[in-house]
Amino acid sequence: MQMAAIFGQISGNGAYTKKCHEFFVDRFGFGKSLLTTSCSDALEMTALLAHIEPGDEVIMPSFTFVSTANAFAIRGAIIRFADTTAEYPNISVQQIAELITPKTKAIVVVHYAGAACDMNAINALAVKHNITVIEDAAHALGAFYHGRPCGTLADMATFSFHETKNIICGEGGMLALNKKEYFNRAEIIWEKGTNRAAFHRGEVNKYGWVDIGSSFLPSELISAFLYAQLEQFDVIQMERTRVKRDYLKHFDSLNRSGLLTIPKLPDGATENGNMFFAVCRTGEERNQLIKYLNHEGIHAVFHYLPLHNSPYFTPHHDGRELPNTIRFSDTIIRFPFYSGLETDDIEWIAKTTAKFFNR
Ligand SMILES: *Cc1c(COP(=O)(O)O)cnc(C)c1O
Repeated sequence: MQMAAIFGQISGNGAYTKKCHEFFVDRFGFGKSLLTTSCSDALEMTALLAHIEPGDEVIMPSFTFVSTANAFAIRGAIIRFADTTAEYPNISVQQIAELITPKTKAIVVVHYAGAACDMNAINALAVKHNITVIEDAAHALGAFYHGRPCGTLADMATFSFHETKNIICGEGGMLALNKKEYFNRAEIIWEKGTNRAAFHRGEVNKYGWVDIGSSFLPSELISAFLYAQLEQFDVIQMERTRVKRDYLKHFDSLNRSGLLTIPKLPDGATENGNMFFAVCRTGEERNQLIKYLNHEGIHAVFHYLPLHNSPYFTPHHDGRELPNTIRFSDTIIRFPFYSGLETDDIEWIAKTTAKFFNR
């Protein structure tokens, strides 16, 4: 007997994939949702959908994961890295405005730790200059901006279900589309450049190669795992926001003492229990604190290395300094964050952190 006969379809775009798509569209109001094998892949799809070609300029933060940039670099785009704001490690609107040229084809924003960027201002700039806006919402599932879900705030958005995120399936992601003009082509790009999805709906009587594309869709095994997480979506989010609340409570006095800073959520942003991070006074102190906590058995870590001065990008960078990016990269510390992290443990983490400063 064939495996498929026992288990049903286990390749992509089957029953569980559809259930996940329906969940996301119903729950968050995306125009269309397509599961992908990673957020990196979803980002590559956005570059194809935005018709990014060699020489096109794309503005994005330097303070992000390498995939945000790679997706556009492999299409030959010129990446123009923008600095973050001084207060919060999200892209600065003023920097975006300064970097726009007639060649600017796309702006990619990252909602750091799930806190939405200043999308009203960014979209206003984009409309004025006819630029596509993409949300790298890898951290931002379940987060809102002035009452609207992250992922619905721009032309397209990408999400990650990598095991470090809120909702997980090992490796996985999603593309969310908010403009009808993308829907058909996105399905084609997703299914190796073929119109196979339309064929399965009976809209065409054979399928073939109609555009460029790749195999961006996950197997049903992945989708089924993901769907089980989605069935628990509210439970997971409630638990993760509880962890965050506990952290904010127990780190409040450290924050007020100025020994550490916990940046306030930007205007209109909400908490989605993605991570807990703080900003140290100096890079040196941050590194010593991480070392101290690690020694005490607490797995605290740093975060993004700036992309503009990375080994790959340095020769391509235009030489502008991005001081806020450098400062956040040097001074951000992230604390352990997972469902089931107990209040007592969080209190102990805060006490141990305070002990470091009182040595
Ligand atoms: C995790 C992450 C990605 C990559 O997600 P994958 O699913 O691992 O490809 C991209 N951008 C940001 C901001 C991320 O945090």
